[in-house]
Amino acid sequence: MAAAPARRVELGFAEPVPAWRLRSEQFPSKVGGRPAWLGEAALPGPAALGCARCGRPLAFLLQVYAPLPGRADAFHRCLFLFCCREPPCCAGLRVFRNQLPRKNEFYSYEPPSENPSPETESVCLQLRSGAHLCRVCGCLGPKTCSRCHQAHYCSKEHQTLDWRLGHKQACTQDHLDHTVPDHNFLFPEFEIVIETEEEIVPEVVEKEEDFEITGSMGKESASALMIKYGRKGLVHQEKWS
Ligand SMILES: [Zn+2]
Ligand SMILES: [Zn+2]
Ligand SMILES: [Zn+2]
Repeated sequence: MAAAPARRVELGFAEPVPAWRLRSEQFPSKVGGRPAWLGEAALPGPAALGCARCGRPLAFLLQVYAPLPGRADAFHRCLFLFCCREPPCCAGLRVFRNQLPRKNEFYSYEPPSENPSPETESVCLQLRSGAHLCRVCGCLGPKTCSRCHQAHYCSKEHQTLDWRLGHKQACTQDHLDHTVPDHNFLFPEFEIVIETEEEIVPEVVEKEEDFEITGSMGKESASALMIKYGRKGLVHQEKWS
């Protein structure tokens, strides 16, 4: 009986990068911050994002860019993982998928630019399709502040949180400030750099006295690989070709 083919294990490493690298048009894999949605189609609404146990809004934990090269409708494909971070519940993991064909009305047909985008807004609270996102969690925000009609929220809970943390003052001003306060709801944001298990296993050595040196060389070569493959441009070029 033939042995089953070994499954390739991929590991993700959280690395700090400039904020623009984690925006939707860069098709990032990342942990924390607001979800970098690809498009509006099939996006989860407030009902789908309520914790099944406690009912509170789930928090975005991470997303992995996982395109399916063989499928035209999933040339861009991203999986989003949400969790409940309200103690004592802290359960209710949920996964959503968001995908687009290569030719779509929101993003370039060609791989994204390696240069910072000129946009200066620190937080993007609107999808390219025009749909508004909740100021607190970055998910669809179909509810608006009844006084200014400019601030969007997924839920009463997040409106209340934003109100307490500054919207109470901003609401009466003519235009809404785009500096969103820290609501202490999002997880810290990092890029996820993905490597296969083989890439990071240190080489086996024969001579005992070499062990210590090779141990540190193993680490070095791992970080060298991280620099080489962790650069999104290279990863994208490979995926897109
Ligand atoms: Zn919960
Ligand atoms: Zn929200
Ligand atoms: Zn308002």
